[in-house]
Amino acid sequence: MIIAIAILGWAFGAAINWLADSLPFFRKPAMPRCPACTAPFSPISWFAVPAIIARVWRCEYCSTRRQTRTLLVEILAIAGSISIYFWSNSPTSFWSAFLVSAVFLLIIVIDMEHKLILHVVTFPAAVLFIVLGLLNPQMSLGRVLLGGAVGFGLFFLLYLLGGIFARNVSGGQDNADDEVALGFGDVTLATIIGLAVGFPGVIEALLRGILAAGLFSIAYLIFMKMRRRYSAFTPIPYGPFLILGAWWVYFWGWAWLERILNM
Ligand SMILES: [Zn+2]
Repeated sequence: MIIAIAILGWAFGAAINWLADSLPFFRKPAMPRCPACTAPFSPISWFAVPAIIARVWRCEYCSTRRQTRTLLVEILAIAGSISIYFWSNSPTSFWSAFLVSAVFLLIIVIDMEHKLILHVVTFPAAVLFIVLGLLNPQMSLGRVLLGGAVGFGLFFLLYLLGGIFARNVSGGQDNADDEVALGFGDVTLATIIGLAVGFPGVIEALLRGILAAGLFSIAYLIFMKMRRRYSAFTPIPYGPFLILGAWWVYFWGWAWLERILNM
C-alpha cells in the first residue's frame, strides 16, 4: 500500500512540475517542455527522478539544466503523500488532504517563481474545495462557505489598506502596482484557504500565515542589513506563508482559537 501511495504522490509531483512550467506562461496546461527553449521533453524527462538517473538532466536541444525544483517537488510530493496516508483515518480524509495539499504545493511553486497566484488555479480549486468540504462529515456547507467569506473579507480589507500604504510610500506615483506587498492573488488564496479549512479555522490559519510572513520578513531584513544590502521595500511572496498556516490548521487544528474560546 505504501508503494502505491508513494507512486501516486510521485505522479502528482510530476504533474505539479508540469503545470508550474506551463500555467504561468499559457494560462492552460501544455505538454511537458523545456522552460528555456520550449522543446518538448521526451517521456523519460517528464519525471525528474528517472531524468537524473538516466542522465538526461540537461535539455537535449539547448542543454539548459533542468530546474532543481522539479526534483524537490517530486520528493516532497512522495514524502507528503506518505505522511498524509498515516495521518488520515479514512479514504475520504486521505483524498481530501491529498488533493488540497497538491493544489497548495502548486500555488507555492508558482508564487515563489513568478510572484503570481493564478485564477486558472484558484477558481477550479475553489470548486474542488467546496465539494471536498461537503464530503467531510466534520464540515458543513455553511462552515465551508463562511470560511471562504471570512478569508476573502479579511484579505480584501488588507489588500485595500496595502494599496493606500503603497501609494503613500511612492509619493503618489502610481508605479507601485507590481511592488504592492499584498496582491489580489493573495485575496483569492485567502478565500480558498477559508474554503479548505472552514470557519473558524480560517482565522487561525491566516493569522499563523501572517505571523510567519512577518517573522520571515524581519529575519530577512536583519540578514540584508548585516550584508549591507538594505532596501526599504522588498516584497516577499505571501502565498507560501499563508499556505503553511493553512496546512497547520488543516492537519493539527486551531489550538490558539480553542484557548481563547475556553478563557
Ligand atoms: Zn531546451
